[in-house]
Amino acid sequence: MATPIGNLSDISARAIEILSSAGNIAAEDTRVTRRLLDHYGITARLMAVHEHNEQRAAGDVLALLATGANVALVSDAGTPGISDPGARLVAAAHAAGYCVCPVPGANAAAAAVSASGFLSPHFLFYGFLPARSSARRTALKALDALPYTLVFYEAPHRVAECVDDLAATLGAARRIMIARELTKLFEETHVCTMGDAAAWLAASEHRTKGEFVLVVEGAAASVPDAAALDQTLQALLEELPLKQAVALAVKITGGNRNDLYQRALVLKGDA
Ligand code: SAM
Repeated sequence: MATPIGNLSDISARAIEILSSAGNIAAEDTRVTRRLLDHYGITARLMAVHEHNEQRAAGDVLALLATGANVALVSDAGTPGISDPGARLVAAAHAAGYCVCPVPGANAAAAAVSASGFLSPHFLFYGFLPARSSARRTALKALDALPYTLVFYEAPHRVAECVDDLAATLGAARRIMIARELTKLFEETHVCTMGDAAAWLAASEHRTKGEFVLVVEGAAASVPDAAALDQTLQALLEELPLKQAVALAVKITGGNRNDLYQRALVLKGDA
């Protein structure tokens, strides 16, 4: 179930109800979750389920479920299983035939996308990029042509380097939103071109501190080169009847059938 990413009020009434009644809570770091539970006056048994013990802890959770107990799963902040532990335990519960119910709530990626104003109806949540610059640039090159908003998590000590790599691989002209410390006291969201992002971060030492989501505008949908389209259509028209030439041109170029048909008429001089 989701827990807040900063502001403790960002927890649903249903999540509080479930945490209060679950009896057992599997938590990434029991000290962090204890603070949240104390804030809401909730007493429950906490068991640690983190990156390094998830497989073994899953066995303990399944044993509890077998007794008929309910177990709530939380991470330190936000939604478990999203750049956080949880997926292995959830998979084990599914495999054993138990019902797994999501309790939605805070998620840093969704919060950042909702504040970006980027218009693409699609976004790709990438999470953390590789820590080393060369591997990061390789990973970014694979995303370069995607026409979707891209969403990255980044650690504060790497954010400046990451922004440099984003500009170098995806292009300085694309827009980025740097979302820092969402829902917290020093929250900032700043939209600029990637070429200007390094200077914005460097303008104050506070700007490279805290937690970050980087939201990058997707690649502009590629506009087919009109001359190349004409050349393809012309070559096909020389060999084939008009309808067949257009059908093949649609397959080859991925262009719009009606547009290509109209253009074919012009090239044949029939329009
Ligand atoms: N499971 C969490 C979620 O649902 O968002 C993400 C956990 S991941 C280990 C932690 C990363 O999420 C941080 O390094 C940062 O990139 C991002 N993040 C978490 N809280 C944030 C916040 N309040 N503001 C900006 N980014 C945040």
